[in-house]
Amino acid sequence: MATFNTQLQTIGFAYDWMTGTGYRKIDGFCFTARVDVNAKMYTVNVSCAVPTEESARILNDGLRQYAEQHKKTVKSAFYDGRHISLCYQNKDLVMNIAEGVREAVDVSMYYIQQLGARPICRKCHQVRDTDLYAVEKMVTALCPDCFLTEQQKMEGHTAAESIVTENVPLGLLGALLGGLGGAVLWVLFYLLGKIVIVAGALAAMASYFLYKVFAKRMSKKGVFLSLGIGLVVLLAGMYFAIGVDVFQEFQRAAYPISFSEAFDIVPEYISWNLGVVLFNNIFGLITYLAGAGICLAQFYTDNKTKNRAVRLTGTTL
Ligand SMILES: [Zn+2]
Repeated sequence: MATFNTQLQTIGFAYDWMTGTGYRKIDGFCFTARVDVNAKMYTVNVSCAVPTEESARILNDGLRQYAEQHKKTVKSAFYDGRHISLCYQNKDLVMNIAEGVREAVDVSMYYIQQLGARPICRKCHQVRDTDLYAVEKMVTALCPDCFLTEQQKMEGHTAAESIVTENVPLGLLGALLGGLGGAVLWVLFYLLGKIVIVAGALAAMASYFLYKVFAKRMSKKGVFLSLGIGLVVLLAGMYFAIGVDVFQEFQRAAYPISFSEAFDIVPEYISWNLGVVLFNNIFGLITYLAGAGICLAQFYTDNKTKNRAVRLTGTTL
């Protein structure tokens, strides 16, 4: 089955993965199709201005009627004076996206031609020649002037951001606290029923998140430091949990030993019961790796979309 981006390609739309948006310029009008996979929804948008209030009313009435006639798939369709917006909701999103987007374009173009609408810039709302740009986490129709302003704003942003230095020591403290939170949960779960599955992922994500909050900035170094600390604290928690377990077993065997003796025995205990220890801890460690993977993915997408300002359509300048 074709994925929605290849489906969009069949109707001449390109697709921007960073924002989940399909886009195409048709007769000077910039169309976007924003896909929300989780909600099984997509919204087709085009910025345009109609000449009179009467034509705005005709357009709105026409769109509402269209939505009424296609209740099963069309969630909403309206013109707010600046954009035509058609929202589709489908249980089978991937199957029908090309069909739905094509229909939305046809409906929009019909009214655009009938009413003599003109393309407008999404930001300044003036009737201008527009192109599609990816600005941070959005794909937007902008006039060249507004894009320049956005680009300059972005550069100012980047400059301001590089002034904020990463506070590594505070970040490490944050990571330590996050890791501790995960480790405490790990010990509790372990002693209650030896189910440590979620604690691993929580330790990774809490270490990463609190590092970012405390250090005020996240670099590649910060990612590895925070996840490394999270893992070390977690392993310490694991050791502690096994120690308590050993202590309790000796209590039960009516051969009480002290806490420190129990912790001294842990390495030996692990080598005797390697299979059991591995089984009790392996799932938590796997979810730690999964949590770390999520953090890494988050870090890379954040950095790719942040400060992004690129032109997607239009003739070369
Ligand atoms: Zn503009």
